[in-house]
Amino acid sequence: MKGALGVVFPPQCLCCGAGVASQGALCPACWREAEFVGASACARCGVPVPGEPPQSEDEAAALICDDCLIRDRPWRRGRAALVYRGTGRALVLALKHGDRPDLAPPLGRWLAGAAAPLVRPGMLVVPVPLHPRRMLKRKYNQAALLARQVARAHDLPHCPGLLVRTRHTGMQDHRGVADRFANVASALAVPPRQRGAVQGRAVLLVDDVMASGATAAAAAEALRTAGSGPVCVAVLARAVREAPPRAAGDAE
Ligand SMILES: [Zn+2]
Ligand SMILES: [Zn+2]
Repeated sequence: MKGALGVVFPPQCLCCGAGVASQGALCPACWREAEFVGASACARCGVPVPGEPPQSEDEAAALICDDCLIRDRPWRRGRAALVYRGTGRALVLALKHGDRPDLAPPLGRWLAGAAAPLVRPGMLVVPVPLHPRRMLKRKYNQAALLARQVARAHDLPHCPGLLVRTRHTGMQDHRGVADRFANVASALAVPPRQRGAVQGRAVLLVDDVMASGATAAAAAEALRTAGSGPVCVAVLARAVREAPPRAAGDAE
C-alpha cells in the first residue's frame, strides 16, 4: 500500500516540494536553512542564547534572555522548535496562510519534541485562539492544529475552546513592542462556563510563532486570572531580534 502511494505521491520536501527520500522530511537545501533550537535557549521564551548548553535542569531554568529580563512573561517556562527565519519562517507562513493544514502533523511532531521538557501529567494543551472573523477567512486555526498534535504525542487533553478572543486586535505586524502588548492585553479570556475546567490545572499554551510575546502574555494572564495552575508556552517558531518579522501577515 505504502509502495503504491509512493508511486502516485513521491515524498516531497515539506517546505519547497523537492523530491526527498521519506515523507515528512526536508530537502538538503531547506534543511540548511532550518534553525532548530537546541538546549542553549532562554527558559522563558525559547530564543537561542549563545554559550555552552546547560548541564543540569537548574542551569537550564536559569538561562533567561535579555528580553525576558525586562518584559512581562506571566508564564513559567517556554520552548520553541525553530527560529523564525529561513525554513522556519517559510513553514509557519505556509501553515498559516498557504492552505497547508497537511503540514500540521510533521510540524506538530517537531513541536511536541521541543515541548517535551515542559510536559507534566494531566496538563491541558490550549491553543491561542483566532478571532472568529479571522477564522472565517482562514478556515482553520493553525495553533489548534499544532496543539492537537502536541496533545496526541504526549497523551494530554486538547482543549481548543478554553481560551477565546474577546475582541478583534487587528494585525500586529506594524506595531512597536509596547504597542503590541497594549493592543492584545485583555483581548483573550477564559469563558465563564470553562472556568471550572481550568481550575488549578497546569496548562501548555501552544502557538505557531512568538514575536514580542505579547499574545502569549495575554493568554497566560487570562488563564491565571481564571484560576489555572502554572502556564508553559510552546511555539513552533521564535522570532529573533536580528530579523524581526515585517512582511504582511507575519507573526503577532
Ligand atoms: Zn526543500
Ligand atoms: Zn527569553
